[in-house]
Amino acid sequence: MNLYAKDNPGQRTLIPMGKRTVGKDFVIFAGPCAVENSQQLMEITSEIRPWVDGFRAGFFKPRTSPYSFAGSGSEGLAELSGLKLDLPMVVELMSVEQVKDWADAVDIIQIGARNMYNYPLLEAVAASGKPVLLKRHFSATIDELLMAAEYILSRGNKQFMLCERGIRAFEPRLRNCLDLGTLCLLRQLTHLPVLVDPSHAAGDASLVAPLALAAAAAGADGLLLEVHPNPMEALSDGPQALTPAQLGELAGRIKEMLELLRK
Ligand code: PEP
Ligand code: MN
Repeated sequence: MNLYAKDNPGQRTLIPMGKRTVGKDFVIFAGPCAVENSQQLMEITSEIRPWVDGFRAGFFKPRTSPYSFAGSGSEGLAELSGLKLDLPMVVELMSVEQVKDWADAVDIIQIGARNMYNYPLLEAVAASGKPVLLKRHFSATIDELLMAAEYILSRGNKQFMLCERGIRAFEPRLRNCLDLGTLCLLRQLTHLPVLVDPSHAAGDASLVAPLALAAAAAGADGLLLEVHPNPMEALSDGPQALTPAQLGELAGRIKEMLELLRK
């Protein structure tokens, strides 16, 4: 039997993360698409701290155009430990070398959608022993995603979660198509926690809250959300970024909704 599959219907992978446990508690990881500088990261994290269980931040960005801003890179990441953020930080690493150099500097290694098929990288994150967040490629089938997960599980790293972030469909008005059917099926097929990233699915901040609420209602274990203090001036993915105030409002609505659903 594949290691991603449940032994029994109630089996869940639990990942202790700060004060929360991914797979048991609903978690929100939020932060900037790309870190522009340490000062900005400090400001965003202190503003959103009351509503989140951890932060996300991109230091190495896989940009479609080589001319786009690609994050503050090694220099930015080197400053991260000095910032004393006190909450777990999810950071994308894009190569085997980056995993060797930076795994210890982050709390959760994110494998971005474009790298879901990068098997040497999956082996390297498995060997790092760090918790991993594996994003679904925008054209990956469910079985391809689960087999990518199997690469990590079969090499002994059981501390990881999946993330649905939208797939490429025929509709150009949406950046991607958030595949909540896959979320529901994954929750049946695997014990691994499944997060949802409505920011990259929507590509538009006005759609992020309804998609986030829908994902939470459909059984997501948590959310990955992009936030920027001034989305109009963001160097990466501004149109889909929530402001800290919008994030706070959304977090409150999600909490209320989940309490209602539990009754
Ligand atoms: C990200 O979360 O920063 C990102 C680049 O997303 P994706 O890999 O899903 O495109
Ligand atoms: Mn982004």
